[in-house]
Amino acid sequence: MTLSLPQAQIAGVHHFRLGDLVISAINDGIFEVTLDVMANIDRAEAEKLQAAAYRRMPPRITINAFLVNDGHSLTLIDSGCGTIGGPAAGAVGRHLAAMGVRPEAIGRVLVTHMHIDHVSGLVDGEGKAVFPEAEIVVHEAEAKFWLGEVPAGAPEGLRDAFGIAARGIGPYRARLRTVAGGEVAPGITIVPAPGHTPGHSGYAIQSGGEHLLIWGDIVHMPGVQFANPEAGMVFDIDPAQGRATRRRIFNLAASERSRVAGMHLDFPTFGHVTRAGSSYAFVPEVWYPDV
Ligand SMILES: [Zn+2]
Repeated sequence: MTLSLPQAQIAGVHHFRLGDLVISAINDGIFEVTLDVMANIDRAEAEKLQAAAYRRMPPRITINAFLVNDGHSLTLIDSGCGTIGGPAAGAVGRHLAAMGVRPEAIGRVLVTHMHIDHVSGLVDGEGKAVFPEAEIVVHEAEAKFWLGEVPAGAPEGLRDAFGIAARGIGPYRARLRTVAGGEVAPGITIVPAPGHTPGHSGYAIQSGGEHLLIWGDIVHMPGVQFANPEAGMVFDIDPAQGRATRRRIFNLAASERSRVAGMHLDFPTFGHVTRAGSSYAFVPEVWYPDV
């Protein structure tokens, strides 16, 4: 198959050229939240950081997925909320259509983890597969946790999350590829980043000497968590591991001057991490009208 690479930007989508690839950030919408979603940070400090970073209150969490076009195949990374994320989310399918991408042209979906805003776009309102030809790739620890038994005594919210994971992955069970590490597609390596969930992973992409780490949910609240990486989210499965992973990835990105992108970084999400003492900052990639 030969695909044409996008040449111009369209609303809700941002095309970024990485070597021979075009990587498109696709905005799924937002979650309207309160600071109650944050953990391990004093509420007043979170409010102060949010204000200092000129962020909205109550906060919004941006939701993104990504499409990798190598000129021959299309790889989607996560899928947004589909039909169950509320009225302000679920736009990935619409944006793919606006890009002229048919669902059957997606050959592979790399999943960072199995939360609602990452796997629910894999299925339609009736729970049927949206991407009829796609294999699903996910870290083995993620599949083992979410597709296994619900832990005894799990609170209701966690129980619901198990149902959401099973619903998103359900119709793909026969074409689910679980991996422990290494290259998962040409030029794309899985980067385990556990804590937020047991098999939470980023995907490192390289082409033509250029690199990008799509880091999944290392950050949910950019206004707060770059300044204070100890702050987590109430739905982190292992909060301490999540904090350690966030620091490790921030340090790696800052010292190697890596380019990163993320599911909850502000659209269009591409940029770099810098370090200042025990805090960090995000430097967005400069936007250009062409690709
Ligand atoms: Zn998320």
